[in-house]
Amino acid sequence: MTDYRGRFAPTPSGPLHFGSLVAALASFLDARRAGGEWLLRIEDIDPPRCPPGAAETIIAQLEAFGLHWDGPVLWQQGREAHYALALERLEGLELAYPCSCSRRQWRQYPVYPGWCRSGVREPDKPVAWRLRSDLGRRPVIWQDRLFGEQCFDPAALGDVVLKRKDGLWAYQLAVVVDDADQGITDVVRGADLLDNTPWQRQLQQALDLPEPRYLHLPLIMDVNDQKLSKQNLAAPLPLADARVRPLLHRALLALDQAPSPALAAAPVSEQLDQAIADWDVGRIQPERKRIAMEGDTDS
Ligand code: GLU
Repeated sequence: MTDYRGRFAPTPSGPLHFGSLVAALASFLDARRAGGEWLLRIEDIDPPRCPPGAAETIIAQLEAFGLHWDGPVLWQQGREAHYALALERLEGLELAYPCSCSRRQWRQYPVYPGWCRSGVREPDKPVAWRLRSDLGRRPVIWQDRLFGEQCFDPAALGDVVLKRKDGLWAYQLAVVVDDADQGITDVVRGADLLDNTPWQRQLQQALDLPEPRYLHLPLIMDVNDQKLSKQNLAAPLPLADARVRPLLHRALLALDQAPSPALAAAPVSEQLDQAIADWDVGRIQPERKRIAMEGDTDS
């Protein structure tokens, strides 16, 4: 029995696209190859960003691609008490403080300069909560499985927001609390989140939580060298099996896994079984991948 536990943690702000498929697939293959568990967490912490039905679409898309998770889906909505406890702990350790400043006030600084650390400047205004990054001043260092050693200066990271002025919990705190509560040992996700990881490492250290291993994946770009994203209206993953099969094959190619061309149209379960058997992180090239998708013109 292995202690590996991975997860896919989409924000249901829209359907999954090819870039999210690559992240989900790599995380799934890494977990299955290790004989570990793979969990699904829906990061619906920011309801205004999550249109109704988007989470259900994501679930249907994962099922269509044969990416079956273990156990029940974890939804972030409803877990607010866990985030509040973590914030209370940080406050007790004098590592979190309320802050009334607006971005407009500190726009000429690269990161928030910490004015409210010694007391809220404008106590009548709504406050956000921030993590103190000025104590200890140790660099945040970790080894990424693809991108190698990462080293960040806390002064350059600034005091990350843990709870927003509108009362919503920030992604950085929720993700750390949830990864710990779910016993996640391995985080596999897109390189667009690489520069979020130092805040998460800081929080894990501050809360004395276990530190998962990290594998960040090469970014997937479209033919115009734009990152595939919901903001760029990347095409949603299809549900119809005839379109799913070749796309799964392409996702394996994007991960440099050299799947057999003979399997390009094979049922997803067959493609996945082979991909699990062949999974080799050492093959992944860190360079961005430029992918021409259906409907793209190479202009
Ligand atoms: N919810 C985040 C997203 O969809 C990913 C969180 C993570 O993998 O840590 O971008």
